[in-house]
Amino acid sequence: MRVVVIGAGIVGLCSAWHLARLGAEVTVLDSGEPGSGASSGNAGAISAGSVAPLAMPGVLKTVPQMLTDPKAALHIPLRYWPKAFPWLWQFVASARPAKVQATAQALGALMFGAMERHREILAAEGALDLIRETGQLYLYRDRAQFQKDAGSWALRQQHGMRLEFLEGLDAIRALEPDVRGDYQLGVFIPDQGSCINPRRHAEVVAAGVRRMGGQVLRQEVLGLLVEDHRVAGVRTREGEVRADAVVLAAGAFSAGLLAPLGIKVPLESQRGYHVMLPDPGIALQRPIIPADRKAFISPMETGLRIAGTVEFGGLDRPPNPYRAELLLEDLRQVFPQANSEGREGHWMGHRPCLPDSIPVVGPVRAWPGLWCAFGHGHLGLTGSAPTGRLLAQVMLGPTPNVDLAPYAVERFG
Ligand SMILES: Cc1cc2nc3c(=O)[nH]c(=O)nc-3n(C[C@H](O)[C@H](O)[C@H](O)COP(=O)(O)OP(=O)(O)OC[C@H]3O[C@@H](n4cnc5c(N)ncnc54)[C@H](O)[C@@H]3O)c2cc1C
Repeated sequence: MRVVVIGAGIVGLCSAWHLARLGAEVTVLDSGEPGSGASSGNAGAISAGSVAPLAMPGVLKTVPQMLTDPKAALHIPLRYWPKAFPWLWQFVASARPAKVQATAQALGALMFGAMERHREILAAEGALDLIRETGQLYLYRDRAQFQKDAGSWALRQQHGMRLEFLEGLDAIRALEPDVRGDYQLGVFIPDQGSCINPRRHAEVVAAGVRRMGGQVLRQEVLGLLVEDHRVAGVRTREGEVRADAVVLAAGAFSAGLLAPLGIKVPLESQRGYHVMLPDPGIALQRPIIPADRKAFISPMETGLRIAGTVEFGGLDRPPNPYRAELLLEDLRQVFPQANSEGREGHWMGHRPCLPDSIPVVGPVRAWPGLWCAFGHGHLGLTGSAPTGRLLAQVMLGPTPNVDLAPYAVERFG
């Protein structure tokens, strides 16, 4: 089978890797270099157990802060509200308790065993050094602050996440000696892990696709090629690329390629930022997340990365350096002693977010030949390897025992 994959982000690449492994003739097309989109600058957390959707019951109460506080971890500039409103409406609607349970079920089923799935690819490519299985550590000022997130933690525990509670700064420092901020409660997740260089991770997977005979080419896809009511390939500036199947994995840009087929998907970019400290002067064993700011402080092989913040603003607006500066404030809350000399920033990337926090994975029923793998939001690194394996199996067999209905593009009507 000839397959074109649109997008050489980590989701498209893992899909291509599994398709190639199952014998497909794969061509990955991207307007940029492999992994140069959101997949290059994320926080590196591999969080299979993070099944709680972004919209949890009570989310409506946070709206005034989003609107008025430019320092809030989630910010929507006033001028972007009219554009964001329909998406937010669906987002808030998806916070109903029954829907939240269903979402957790769907995310849990998709991401189950994510670490093993990453290990599977990286072991085959001789790059297991890219991942660390040393857990993740969330920090809370006190129990009262933890209570605000208690619902999300309980949901994760119901879905099998193991937690260890560290009471007091001494217990936190026994695990991470460099923590200096006033945090009295640590929540350690021993079974999660992280990647120490997401860009290299993507490059390694791309090299694996080539090793198995696939191509990864720098070409922008201008549109899908439609013939006899099916998708028969793609159009690029260089001409048509014909295929038996096309996988749409263009991250936050995917909706634009579906629209000409009459398919509307409420895909919104949640713009995130990072700054890198090449010589931070502190040594962390794992990503640390100060829960009050929701920033990830992640040790990378090239230094310390502080990543996070959510900003609405679409695909075209230039980055806002102020959002990146806020990340340094977050860092100072936990590590006031960190050395920020020589820092590199302000990287910005587009998290591809759907209002129900569930990615679109699977066939497009109205258009034979077209498959989707996008919308992984805040969990795209985590979900990429399991998504790739699932999609390749659904396309080429053996058919996996997973109900694809929760991930269907048709759920948006
Ligand atoms: C600050 C930040 C921190 C994050 N932290 C984490 C984390 O710790 N853990 C985690 O699991 N996830 C995290 N994420 C989310 C994760 O990075 C994304 O969900 C994931 O990278 C999405 O991968 P993707 O392949 O779908 O999209 P992308 O990486 O954006 O790739 C899409 C690709 O499609 C290409 N493309 C678009 N249009 C076209 C076209 N017309 N023709 C050809 N190519 C096209 C783009 O050039 C791009 O390379 C974070 C994201 C951000 C921004």
